[in-house]
Amino acid sequence: MRGKTSAYKHANKRRLAAVCLTVMLALLFVMIPAEVHAAGDAPKVSVAVKGEGLRVKWSKVKGAATYDVYRSYSRTKGYKRIKKGATGRSLKDVKVASGKRAYYKVLARNAAGKRLSGSKAASGVIYRVYVETGHGTGIDGTWDPGCIWNGYQEATLMIPISRATAKYLTARGVYVYTDAYSGNNRNLRWTVSRLQTLDVSVMLNIHCDCQEAPSGTMPLYRYSEQRKLAKYLNRGVHKYVNTTNRGLRKRTDLTTLNDTTNNCVACLFETGSIKADNWTLRTRYNAYGKGLARGICDYLGVKW
Ligand SMILES: [Zn+2]
Repeated sequence: MRGKTSAYKHANKRRLAAVCLTVMLALLFVMIPAEVHAAGDAPKVSVAVKGEGLRVKWSKVKGAATYDVYRSYSRTKGYKRIKKGATGRSLKDVKVASGKRAYYKVLARNAAGKRLSGSKAASGVIYRVYVETGHGTGIDGTWDPGCIWNGYQEATLMIPISRATAKYLTARGVYVYTDAYSGNNRNLRWTVSRLQTLDVSVMLNIHCDCQEAPSGTMPLYRYSEQRKLAKYLNRGVHKYVNTTNRGLRKRTDLTTLNDTTNNCVACLFETGSIKADNWTLRTRYNAYGKGLARGICDYLGVKW
């Protein structure tokens, strides 16, 4: 009987000690200042395509006054600060490279500048493309019609094709620079100088061939990467337009293909002959645009 009572008392004491310890631990956790266990309160980052760049957004962190934003093209290393002391909770990054997955991290600081918590990486990718309608208004303001046949001008005949290309690319989330909506008012020389200030993945120069040329498509390239793009473009067009395939042609005398200082991959696409394909060029512009956009998307790896 005695022994039994003693065992009961011991068990009671142990239970009491366990309860006390739990309460003490809970109190301790509550009393610790927020920044010590801030890991649970890090900013949550999201990235989305917005216009010609990426928009980075992050959640509010308790006690934070400012946020620093970092970008890298590798998830694990090489982060560079692109914004210091942001007081809002979003940032538009228009300087991000085209076609390269970018990773972002956000660091929260309190009013004294003390680091509170850092986010996990979130990523996004923006693709930018230049769709240049062949010929048109030159830098000196004069009009270059390109080939002419039976009252038709290459420079105006290509506009609906450029527009359709831009329309299909935009629908896939690709950002497009083009002279197609301003009446082909920018010729190639203007575009080449503009390209020095932009970061685009692809420059597509849309043309048609002269009346002496046979029917069919013929993308022109100079370098191997341009040839790869040319192949995708030709394949894309022949998915939607029923016309002859003249194959790819290497050219070393074209400004479009020779200018590689801006890192974008260029192709001059001959859509057909202004005479032999006139009806197709005038009526199947939407299919041409769809095919050219498809070719660019397939080349870049943009989901179609
Ligand atoms: Zn031309």
